[in-house]
Amino acid sequence: SPFGFKDVDARDKVSMVHGVFKSVASSYDLMNDVMSGGIHHLWKDAACTRLNPQPGEVILDVAGGTGDIARRLAKLARAAKARRAGRGNSATDADIRIIDYNEAMIMAGREKSERLKLHEPEISWSVGDAMSLALDDNTADAYIISFGIRNVADVQSALNEAKRVLKPGGRFFCLEFSHPKSSVINKVYETYSFKVIPFMGQMIAHDRDSYQYLVESIQRFPDQETFKQMMIRAGFDRVNYSNFSGGICALHEGRA
Ligand code: SAM
Repeated sequence: SPFGFKDVDARDKVSMVHGVFKSVASSYDLMNDVMSGGIHHLWKDAACTRLNPQPGEVILDVAGGTGDIARRLAKLARAAKARRAGRGNSATDADIRIIDYNEAMIMAGREKSERLKLHEPEISWSVGDAMSLALDDNTADAYIISFGIRNVADVQSALNEAKRVLKPGGRFFCLEFSHPKSSVINKVYETYSFKVIPFMGQMIAHDRDSYQYLVESIQRFPDQETFKQMMIRAGFDRVNYSNFSGGICALHEGRA
């Protein structure tokens, strides 16, 4: 299959992943909701609450796609700003930067903001690669990558890059599908992934191959402990993770 990646090199992976997201961009949000039964919203809420964005902070939403994470962060930062104002303290907006290497996802996200007339002064959108960010060292207060790092050609280099652009002590978060802890959940989950998801991809997005690829990429991604070690190798401190939904999803965090 053209999506069976095991033997392809990183360059091929980049262009194939690019193709996958280009072809799913328009139906991406809908498919997410259907495939996860809406549960990804809860995982994202938990991750953003944990990141705890503050007014004035520079926050990177890398592989930010259509802006699901950035919008949540903007809302939380705005609430924090209002609380400060309530205490008589003024504060500047958070500076939340969506960076994604696929213009089609960025366009879909911006169109959504316009369609819903969302006022999001905190958010900016740009095209860029997680493996080489157009940012100086020690720029960001926080960094999050949500359901994105699995697709990056070289995961370790994306982690190293995150460490580089974060200020010392800056917060790193990675939300990603992971490996369920119990063999029962794993069995059910595998059946769902390999049988149901490609079928739904065909029905809803008319694109079975892309969703087949997404499922395979989840299987191939390092488990919780292995990813933790990769973060430590990149130089992060206080590295830890929480499992969501029995480990179907995990939130890793650390300090630069
Ligand atoms: N973060 C969003 C969310 O949680 O809904 C979008 C996740 S979407 C599954 C994955 C995104 O990763 C896609 O928009 C894709 O373009 C982006 N992506 C994949 N590899 C990337 C890379 N190397 N650099 C930047 N973005 C990347």
